[in-house]
Amino acid sequence: MHPPRELSPSLAPAPWQRAALGANLLAPDGSLGVTIFEEMTGLALRTGAINLGQGFPDEDGPLEIREAARAAISAGANQYAPGKGLPQLREAVAAHQERFYGLTINPDTEVIVTTGATEGIAAALLAFAGPGDEVLTFEPFYDSYGAVIGLAGATHVTAPLLAPDFQPDMAALEAAFSERTRVVLLNNPHNPTGAVFPRSVLQRVVDLARKHGSIIITDEVYEHLTFGVSHLPVACLPGAAERTITISSAGKTFSLTGWKIGWLSGPAELVAAARTVKQFLTYSSGTPFQAAIAAGLALPDAFYTGIAADLEHKRNILRQGLAAAGFDVFSPQGTYFINVDTAPLGIEDSVDLARRLPALVGVAAIPVPVFCHPEGAARTRSLLRFAFCKRTEVLEEAAERLATLSGRL
Ligand code: GLN
Repeated sequence: MHPPRELSPSLAPAPWQRAALGANLLAPDGSLGVTIFEEMTGLALRTGAINLGQGFPDEDGPLEIREAARAAISAGANQYAPGKGLPQLREAVAAHQERFYGLTINPDTEVIVTTGATEGIAAALLAFAGPGDEVLTFEPFYDSYGAVIGLAGATHVTAPLLAPDFQPDMAALEAAFSERTRVVLLNNPHNPTGAVFPRSVLQRVVDLARKHGSIIITDEVYEHLTFGVSHLPVACLPGAAERTITISSAGKTFSLTGWKIGWLSGPAELVAAARTVKQFLTYSSGTPFQAAIAAGLALPDAFYTGIAADLEHKRNILRQGLAAAGFDVFSPQGTYFINVDTAPLGIEDSVDLARRLPALVGVAAIPVPVFCHPEGAARTRSLLRFAFCKRTEVLEEAAERLATLSGRL
């Protein structure tokens, strides 16, 4: 065995890589660290805490979809899929968009399969944004957005979402647009806040994007996880379709986050540009999983309404537990995340609390400031995100543990 070697300077991250990956990924010694999700999942595993941090379900998705993947493997679907995805999955995505939203897309030219939504986001951003361009997102924002905007060499501009309902400040949104706004990157329903944006907000974004000649990339991975409101794809709004790339993923809808099958759709020339990038990121995505997800997308409407109703019930259990523990709770209309303000318990710094929470009460969560730039992090300093995509008995146990927090601080 050779002793581990120091990284040579040429292997250390370059300054631009550090900037791209963000302060959240830098360890105190300046070396690259892991994402907050990995850090908190690692901490939960080491301490045996209930993991309400990283968003993944603790029950696997429908048996028939898992069996379809097994059958596809047995039938020999084990070599590269076509770069743009298996025809049956592209057709299933087109049928899904028609069934739920009345959107007609050509499965041959207007949809590609990606390795999770993560790759779809990266391919679309790298295709359209570069140095000198601005990419506008709401803030807080999902962590990969900041990283990929940085990797593209573009400038990340944000417009704040404000508690308690996490809707945008419309004047700030308008002011955040400029003649350099190349892409507006939306996320609806929104991670980490759980906000669902109403038609009026989405239409305003579309109108501003048209005025400034911006492309819209919309991440709608939580499209089927809404409570009491229906999902409205941006691409359905007047003036949006010709400039919008819509991204989704099987991970959330089917509780199969480890399969990493996603897709993007939109006008043929926009999709072709994203596809050009995708072919050099992964070339193609897991063949047997694509076949199985094609079958999954054909599940009846009752499946889709069932997952939302089940999650709403889970949200209610955790919401009640968090309120009983003394937090101010912001009730989400979508996603499987719920945010709380820790200030009523006298806690000002949620990053510090998240690092101590597993040892204090045996529950892990994600601090909201890690989804922000410094100014937004100051605004969200006492906010903490909990995931509720867990079995009800796990949520009840977590609530009981959290009820002891105020006595342990
Ligand atoms: N989307 C998941 C979350 O927000 C995490 C996925 C990841 O670890 N990158 O918790």
